[in-house]
Amino acid sequence: MTGRNQPVKETRTPLMDEQDARVWNALAEVHDPEIPVLSLVDLKIIRSVKVDGQNVHVVMTPTFSGCPALNVMKQEVENRLIALGFTHVQVEFTYSEPWKTDLLEESTREKLRAFGIAPPVQLVLPQSPEGRKANLQYALEQPVPCPFCGSENTKLDSFFGATLCKQLFFCDSCHQSFDRFKPV
Ligand SMILES: [Zn+2]
Repeated sequence: MTGRNQPVKETRTPLMDEQDARVWNALAEVHDPEIPVLSLVDLKIIRSVKVDGQNVHVVMTPTFSGCPALNVMKQEVENRLIALGFTHVQVEFTYSEPWKTDLLEESTREKLRAFGIAPPVQLVLPQSPEGRKANLQYALEQPVPCPFCGSENTKLDSFFGATLCKQLFFCDSCHQSFDRFKPV
């Protein structure tokens, strides 16, 4: 018996993991300017992080297309990574897999509620575009519980709300206005 039969050591060094963690932690501090209670990590906007020495490459999935905050977020990500000491920072958007509100975890939905925003209805989206459209329509017709008192006695106040991604609702039970995160 020789040492040759020993298991192959992992090529990934602890240092690499630490670098990745540093980047993810920094990105968890970058917030959506329109929903300051959520970070880009909460929102699943950060899709991948690749660290190679002094280089870092980040891929982001845009949320609502045409959201004016996207470039602000990209700039903020670049600034954070430069501040971490990276000399080559590359941030790009991918459009290959569309972003969906279903990606949001329950803890993120809870943060939205606590902030006074009704979270998006969870959808099980069929693959076909027709099925998806019908399902979205169904989701938009569902009652929207008030994030303050839980009442479903709410109504749409204005179709657009504060931004593209939100709609303004009014609660007839507690008489408060609130934003609803639109399901997409
Ligand atoms: Zn209410």
